[in-house]
Amino acid sequence: MAVAQSVPRMRRMAVLSARKRKVTPLPFDLIAFDADDTLWDNEPLYHMGRERFSQLMAKYGPLEDLDKLADRIEIENLKYYGYGAVSFVISLIESAIKWTNGRVAAEDIQGLIDLSREMIEADMPLLEGVEETVSGLADEYPLMLMTKGDLLHQQMKVDRSGLAPFFRYVEVVSEKTPDTYAAILARLDVEPARFLMVGNSMRSDILPVLEIGGWAIHIPNDLTWAHEAVEPGEMPSERFFEVDNMAFLPGLIAQVAGEDRSS
Ligand SMILES: [Mg+2]
Repeated sequence: MAVAQSVPRMRRMAVLSARKRKVTPLPFDLIAFDADDTLWDNEPLYHMGRERFSQLMAKYGPLEDLDKLADRIEIENLKYYGYGAVSFVISLIESAIKWTNGRVAAEDIQGLIDLSREMIEADMPLLEGVEETVSGLADEYPLMLMTKGDLLHQQMKVDRSGLAPFFRYVEVVSEKTPDTYAAILARLDVEPARFLMVGNSMRSDILPVLEIGGWAIHIPNDLTWAHEAVEPGEMPSERFFEVDNMAFLPGLIAQVAGEDRSS
């Protein structure tokens, strides 16, 4: 008897869930999040690092143009050392040697090495709305965390953030180019048109994803590194949204789902 009753009920549930799927199709097969300055603060650490550097260099002479030299060396070194605190500090050491014409003291070099360890061990407070949004979306969508930087450090940050259980995939890449995204999506068999990327960097998180036909949501961060910005003329218009903070994300995604339904 119990079995006989359960059959129509199961059928009814199957019909209902099929209807539900039809009425509210999920617009994405995968949603990916950038990590630094999207999920947690990162750039303030680098500002602190530059301040420490200036303090260490002050004894060697006027600081005029020190920042310009350090900026140039940091950008030049990206192709050798990639992104992250270790690369940053190697560039500061090189800047210190050049700035002082080789006179920089070993104790100041040690001060910069200590700085890199301090940066690697620093707390990264989650940004507003992140925990609720990521945990909520993980109930509906496969989520990926996609970040560039030093593998060990990025993995440590993911572990310490408490967000790891919500991400089905974690990808630490050396650059975020259209090819990087295309290769990851191909590996996971996800169509670009069914992929959404969320991040603070136009250069790394938004433009390459739009270029391969994906969707992107920009969450600007006041302290985004100038290297990650783009000229206003490059601003895209299709499959692109911008919100002030993470808390707006679920509503926006629901809106995209609604638009898909009517098309
Ligand atoms: Mg970022």
